[in-house]
Amino acid sequence: GASAGTPDIGVSTGLFIDGRWRSGSRTFDVLNPADGSLLTRVTAADESDVDDAVRSARRAFDGEWGQAAGTARAAVLHRIADLIERDADRLARLEALDIGKPVGQPAMLDVPNAAATFRHFAGWADKITGSAIPTDGYFGRPTHSYTVREPIGVVAAIIPWNTPLMIAAWKLAPALATGNTVVVKPAEDAPLSILALAELVQEAGVPAGVVNVIPGLGEEAGAALVRHPEVDKISFTGSPEVGRQIGRVAAESFKRVTLELGGKSPQIVLADADVEAAVQGIALGLFFNQGEVCAAGTRVLVHRSLYDQVVEALAGAANGQVVGDPFDPQTTMGALVSQEHLDRVLSYVDRAKDEGARLVAGGGRPRGEGYFIQPTVFADVARDATIAREEIFGPVGAVIPFDDVEEAIEIANETEYGLAATIWTRDVSLAHTLAHEVRAGAVWVNGWAAINPALPWGGVKTSGVGRELGWSGILANTEEKVVTIVL
Ligand code: NAD
Repeated sequence: GASAGTPDIGVSTGLFIDGRWRSGSRTFDVLNPADGSLLTRVTAADESDVDDAVRSARRAFDGEWGQAAGTARAAVLHRIADLIERDADRLARLEALDIGKPVGQPAMLDVPNAAATFRHFAGWADKITGSAIPTDGYFGRPTHSYTVREPIGVVAAIIPWNTPLMIAAWKLAPALATGNTVVVKPAEDAPLSILALAELVQEAGVPAGVVNVIPGLGEEAGAALVRHPEVDKISFTGSPEVGRQIGRVAAESFKRVTLELGGKSPQIVLADADVEAAVQGIALGLFFNQGEVCAAGTRVLVHRSLYDQVVEALAGAANGQVVGDPFDPQTTMGALVSQEHLDRVLSYVDRAKDEGARLVAGGGRPRGEGYFIQPTVFADVARDATIAREEIFGPVGAVIPFDDVEEAIEIANETEYGLAATIWTRDVSLAHTLAHEVRAGAVWVNGWAAINPALPWGGVKTSGVGRELGWSGILANTEEKVVTIVL
């Protein structure tokens, strides 16, 4: 509900703790990126709210949920998936409103992916098996050894603003499937779809305390959650800076951590590539979700024989984007999430110009209000230029030519990140060779962002630690125990 002077946009704006909604003493503003107006105010959890949420998760873990059968957990996850599907339009609209993305994109990706993730992990919930391991026994006596996978306990899930519903599902579904309880901390820039998800969790009859959702500021609510002694695991998606801080704090008390951090992913166009398909995929990798994607394919490496052709086609694809109202069905690119983020992205554009890259499309702001930026492409970007190395998290591409496959791999790997990479080629053996040599958590051949709840997700180097989704998501949310009986 909305308090006096706050617009009511029809979603709960409080804290969801121990199965109940409550407000707090302070709020933060949630703005509409498309025009800068106030959407609503959301309660900001303070340290004592965080403590309540973690304690409620602990009680739930020590109670029935910790003992619930896999089939019972599966039923809960299926109910959540059903409700996400029922409310698909509402969830997509909230995501578009809060983040500024074209509403068709969350309707096509984020919402169905969130539902599919709950269904995928519903499928695992009653199939988390161990193994019986033969050994040579114990001082001459035969033994019987077997392993079981047990939940870790209370999981803190800290979510970024770019695709909040989907990433919340990536953390909640595997944690619940394996019998953990969860405290979710949405990002202050985009809490709305996760608040709506909390309403669905309540409607699905998830036992009190199993899922708690506490919006709040990162340095306050987020930091308090990470420090809390009753939190057993932290699952974080966000920036490397914050990830590094969280890793340090977690190490103090040996909390388990999964870190999904940034990226500067290459898209490699080999000489034999289907250029039309490549350009389409590259444009998607640059401009989808306004480029606010961890796996955005922002380093476009093109064989010199195709270079001019691809640069020209990408400039055309950028100029062909329709930037504007997230709720206009014609729109292909919305607004960036905030004024602060817009300023950051624009400063990278200035930096690229200063460093001598050739601007071939965009580079400025469309007229009018809101945090809009033009889809932007730079060609002739030096390998060591700032925009070839740092994550921009906006619709800005850097095109770099290469002469042979060895050079392509060298450029692809000369980054501190290693989240994803795309290879465009018709040569199957080259595709496998490059897939093997590129250092990344995910490699796509002839497509961009072919993600699926069944496939492991995560990065190498600065892009993170650990994997989520698929069976890897089960492993990341359980501790393995071995039991040996001396016969
Ligand atoms: P961010 O690190 O600023 O914030 C992420 C979350 O951490 C937010 O909920 C924030 O409130 C919280 N937080 C901030 N400071 C904290 C602290 N000291 N302790 C605990 N929590 C704290 O990141 P962002 O700006 O929301 O997201 C952008 C970044 O996320 C980019 O680097 C992007 O690449 C990355 N990202 C990665 C993936 C992936 O799967 N690898 C997916 C999406 C986004």
